[in-house]
Amino acid sequence: MSAPNSPSPSDSPFRLARRCERMNPSVLREILKVTERQGIISLAGGLPSPDLFPVDAIREAARQVLADAPREALQYGPSEGYRPLREWIASRLSADGMQVDADAVLITSGSQQGLDLVAKVMIDAGSAVQVESPTYLGALQAFTPFEPVYQALRSDAEGPDPEALSASARFAYLVPSFQNPAGRMIPAARREAIARAAVAKGAVIVEDNPYGELWYDSAPPRPIAASAPTHTIYLGSLSKVLSPGLRLGYIVAPPAIRPKLLQAKQAADLHTSGLSQRIAASAIATGLLDAHLPRVRSHYRTRRDAMVQALERHFAGMADWAVPGGGMFLWMTLRDPVDAVALLNEAVEAGVAFVPGRAFFVDDDPASVAGGIADRSIRLSFVTATPEQIDKAVATLADVVSRRRDRRAA
Ligand code: PMP
Repeated sequence: MSAPNSPSPSDSPFRLARRCERMNPSVLREILKVTERQGIISLAGGLPSPDLFPVDAIREAARQVLADAPREALQYGPSEGYRPLREWIASRLSADGMQVDADAVLITSGSQQGLDLVAKVMIDAGSAVQVESPTYLGALQAFTPFEPVYQALRSDAEGPDPEALSASARFAYLVPSFQNPAGRMIPAARREAIARAAVAKGAVIVEDNPYGELWYDSAPPRPIAASAPTHTIYLGSLSKVLSPGLRLGYIVAPPAIRPKLLQAKQAADLHTSGLSQRIAASAIATGLLDAHLPRVRSHYRTRRDAMVQALERHFAGMADWAVPGGGMFLWMTLRDPVDAVALLNEAVEAGVAFVPGRAFFVDDDPASVAGGIADRSIRLSFVTATPEQIDKAVATLADVVSRRRDRRAA
């Protein structure tokens, strides 16, 4: 006979850790499934355009790596990462104003893993974590299982208020350049003020910068980490400049925290794929990015401009948006009190998909009240569809919004 509370043989034998209660399917990935249906123009996902992958250069680099160092490339490697890639990253960041040597660079499996490692090393149950409002959904997914208490940072059009940074939080998570989802860039003076405030207050910044190279008007100012290297953990990625499938990102952290990040990395996956790292290093060593990045910028700039023109044509008077100077996303807030989640269902019926804004806000945020901007905002990606598709999708969406408005007025 079994004890009173033990599972009966037909029940699942798996007893899950408490943190699983906080793991949810990404709203985004659920939406992406819908958008794979035929005939839908998706402005929802943020997939880099596959037309831009430097396939020939990567094929040649892979051939070279497997010809020159096949056994090294296929062997286990150091947890810190492949030295020549770390050196290249350090020199690139130094050109951006951060004084970094290769020892400071920990290669990760995408910057998403960087977020997970930072969370593992820094968040206890109940720790305060400050986030922008809205913020990157994938960061919330990485942090939430560790049971933080989120605080939405007070902010204005230029970004978070430096005075709002708090040393009682474990860190403030910021995406200063062309943020996902809002497309917003924190200007130089505000970055300096944030850096000064972090140092003065003893606060820590986690600066996530996957989009810094994707600028369409002018390059972003130097990172916050350049002005507050002792108080900043900086995350970078090769996903948006080379290819996300390589799964290459990196963390640059102050010396005091490096050993713990390295130990967390070892526990997670021993090291990032050595084959991927060598292929990237070999491709980059030929100067690939000097020619490639201007192509990427010009390709996305055309699409960004197409979206802005389409919005001006179809949404004037119905919504507000800011023109993103880079990145992949445009953030739009509808003027009428709509629920963007309900709007999405109608939009998908009409053949267009987007991501409702609510998912990017934490609960304690004043924007999250019913009818607030969290409900009325939507994220539109301009990188995957063609300019023609973008115009058609925006026109369709405007039509759906006006029909709802007419129904309400009737
Ligand atoms: N941070 C932000 C802000 C992102 O938008 C993304 C990708 N969507 C990531 C991190 C993760 O990128 P990856 O793991 O491909 O480097």
